[in-house]
Amino acid sequence: METLPGLFYFTLYMSQNKQVVVIGGGFAGLSAACFLAKSGAQVTLLEKNDTIGGRCRSFEERGFTFDMGPSWYWMPDVFERFYQSFGYTTADFYTLDRLDPSYQVIYSDGDVLEVPANYEELVAIFERYEPGSGKHLDKFLADGAYKYEVGMTEFVHKPSLSIFEFMEWKIVTNFLKMDLFKSISKEIRSKFTNSKLIQLLEFPVLFLGAKPQKTPALYSLMNYADIKLGTWYPQGGMVKIPEAMLKIATDLGVIINLNEPVEKIDIEQGKVTTVTTSHSSYKPDAVISSADYHHTETSLLSKEYRSYSDSYWDKREMAPSSLLFYIGVDQKVEGLEHHNLFFDTDFERHAEQIYDTLEWPDQPLFYVCCPSKTDSHVAPAGQENLFFLVPLSAGIEDDVQKREALFDILVARLNQRIGVDITDHIIFKRSFCVEDFKSAYNSFKGNAYGLANTLLQTAFLKPKMQSKKVDNLIYAGQLTTPGPGMPPSLISGEVAAKYLINKYKW
Ligand SMILES: Cc1cc2nc3c(=O)[nH]c(=O)nc-3n(C[C@H](O)[C@H](O)[C@H](O)COP(=O)(O)OP(=O)(O)OC[C@H]3O[C@@H](n4cnc5c(N)ncnc54)[C@H](O)[C@@H]3O)c2cc1C
Repeated sequence: METLPGLFYFTLYMSQNKQVVVIGGGFAGLSAACFLAKSGAQVTLLEKNDTIGGRCRSFEERGFTFDMGPSWYWMPDVFERFYQSFGYTTADFYTLDRLDPSYQVIYSDGDVLEVPANYEELVAIFERYEPGSGKHLDKFLADGAYKYEVGMTEFVHKPSLSIFEFMEWKIVTNFLKMDLFKSISKEIRSKFTNSKLIQLLEFPVLFLGAKPQKTPALYSLMNYADIKLGTWYPQGGMVKIPEAMLKIATDLGVIINLNEPVEKIDIEQGKVTTVTTSHSSYKPDAVISSADYHHTETSLLSKEYRSYSDSYWDKREMAPSSLLFYIGVDQKVEGLEHHNLFFDTDFERHAEQIYDTLEWPDQPLFYVCCPSKTDSHVAPAGQENLFFLVPLSAGIEDDVQKREALFDILVARLNQRIGVDITDHIIFKRSFCVEDFKSAYNSFKGNAYGLANTLLQTAFLKPKMQSKKVDNLIYAGQLTTPGPGMPPSLISGEVAAKYLINKYKW
């Protein structure tokens, strides 16, 4: 009979012999690579771009460091849990500050609502806008806390391949309290009547990818994350997160190959045999693709191995794309905070243009991030680093003139609302839009953050992690479960890696 130490070495030997290719170096790919390497697999991560981080990367220009994608660090517990899985803590990699105010909202009448980090102060603000609303906020966030707790413990760590994963009694009873069948718009309106408070509470879902009327009230968990767990910022920029993940991965022996786009995945007898890149080929035991799901299916696999048809993809409701501007300003811009939401035009009209009429917005809501307000590393002294974001319909025809016309509108609105004209102080400007999302990330329809979080695109109703046709091909990332955003994508990589390890009993 095998002795125990003998068995241990045999198991480790087995895992160490397993070769896994991970496609894509964003949160999902890095996370998957770390968990696979920890289990003993030999992991090679292939990334088409020259940087790690996927949509979360940065560039430097004229002394500015611009984060190119995410800017809201929510759910710090998810990142901390990831680091702890590998024996680290967040402070081992960066200084994380809680922002106060978390953000400010600028309304059409010139009113500015600063959302304080302190909850009691926020309740007092709610009471000023709508007497009696404080207790409704308490209840709304208590429900959000419950959904967050259940969602993060019972739901997001499941591969969600089938409804039967959710059939345990504990989960079924929780399900009923998760408000999946009521819209968040209805839920908010049943508790609040002041239009400014309604807009404030609906903002997280608008950025999540669907109209509040179509988003399940489940997502009030985002309000809990926003208001109770707080808005944080890693000094040095968001790019500090993938840098930390890269260090963990390389310490675990993951081979990271940048500038190496995957061009083809060959299948024989229902299994991946070869992954061909721009300048090499690999023969792995399994593949986790965290590149855009649609791209992997339609560009890397031949048609008979796709899990979903073209018409399936055409019917998916995508979260918006974005028009982004990275701006360097040669002076300080008073009146801005780190995060600024310009909700000074018709919310309904902009939402309709994104989701219904699919046209370029004429007077959009927009968001300005000014990280140089709280981080001296990202702009030269006395100057300001600005990032503008306008949500746009995914798949819309990109047009440089329309980008520029919108930029003029944004600068004019900035001037009108905070009284600062930056026109003659712009020393650097770059835009990024639908066509850039496609070319940079092989993004389906140029989407910025994946699928919209509608009821029919939740959990086991999302594109599945397990390929339906190829046994050893697993998908991860924001187009599969649990969904878009840095924390969900990171969790997606973990779930995919553990699913793979479990599936083959490695
Ligand atoms: C403008 C913007 C703002 C956002 N703001 C926030 C925010 O504030 N907070 C938040 O939590 N989330 C935010 N998000 C969402 C978040 O950034 C994403 O959900 C998350 O980064 C997705 O990670 P991922 O690993 O699934 O995909 P990606 O980051 O896209 O990673 C996939 C990787 O695969 C690579 N790839 C594609 N094709 C190939 C190929 N053939 N071969 C090799 N590699 C390939 C791509 O280059 C990419 O690096 C934002 C996103 C955008 C775009």
